[in-house]
Amino acid sequence: MTFESYRYKHMKIICIGRNYAAHAEELNNPVLEKPMFFMKPDTSLLLKNRDFYYPDFSKDIHYETEIVVRIDKIGKHIDEKFAHKYYSEIGLGIDFTARDLQKECKKKGHPWEIAKAFEHAAPLSQDFISKKELPENINFKLLLNGKEVQNSCTNEMLFSIDKLISYISKFFALKIGDLIFTGTPAGTGPVQIGDHLQGYIENKLMLDFYIK
Ligand code: ZN
Repeated sequence: MTFESYRYKHMKIICIGRNYAAHAEELNNPVLEKPMFFMKPDTSLLLKNRDFYYPDFSKDIHYETEIVVRIDKIGKHIDEKFAHKYYSEIGLGIDFTARDLQKECKKKGHPWEIAKAFEHAAPLSQDFISKKELPENINFKLLLNGKEVQNSCTNEMLFSIDKLISYISKFFALKIGDLIFTGTPAGTGPVQIGDHLQGYIENKLMLDFYIK
C-alpha cells in the first residue's frame, strides 16, 4: 500500500454545492437557505499533480476550484462555536463535474454520482497549509493555461467552514482524514485535452497538472 492510499484510507469526501452566490447564479440555481452537499468516494481522489485523463462518458467536464478542509478530530453534532477545533489545515481541490451528465441527472431528479463521483474527479493538493499560517479570509484562484479563470476568497462563502462542519456533523459522524470540499466560486468552465491547471492558495502553488 502506498503512503497516499494509506493516508486517505477509510475516509469520505463531502462536497458543498452552491456555497458562493455568484456561482449559484451562473448555473441559474436559487441561493440556498441551508447548505447542500453530496459525496465522492476515495477513488475519486487524484493526488500528486498527476494528469487527469478526460473520460469517454462526457463531452463537458468542468473545473470547480475549492478550498478543502481536512478533519483531524472525530466528532458529531458539533456546535458551530467549537467547529474550529476539528480542523487545522487547509488544502485546495478541484471538484470535476461532468456538466452534461449532471444536467441529465437534474432533469430526471436522479442522484449526481455519475457526474461528480467518478474516478479522479477530485484532484487534491499534496500540501495542506496550517490555519495558523493563513489569514482569516483565504484567497484562492485557478489559472487555466496561464490565464486566471477563478479568483475568490473564503469570506464570500454563503456558509462558513465552521457552519458547514456543524451542519454536516448533524448527519454524519466526522472522522480523521475526512475531506470537505467547500464549494466553488464563479468562473467555472470546461476543460479540454492539453489544458494546464494551476491552483493557488494565497501565493502558494498548490495544484499544477494537465488534462490528457
Ligand atoms: Zn463543487
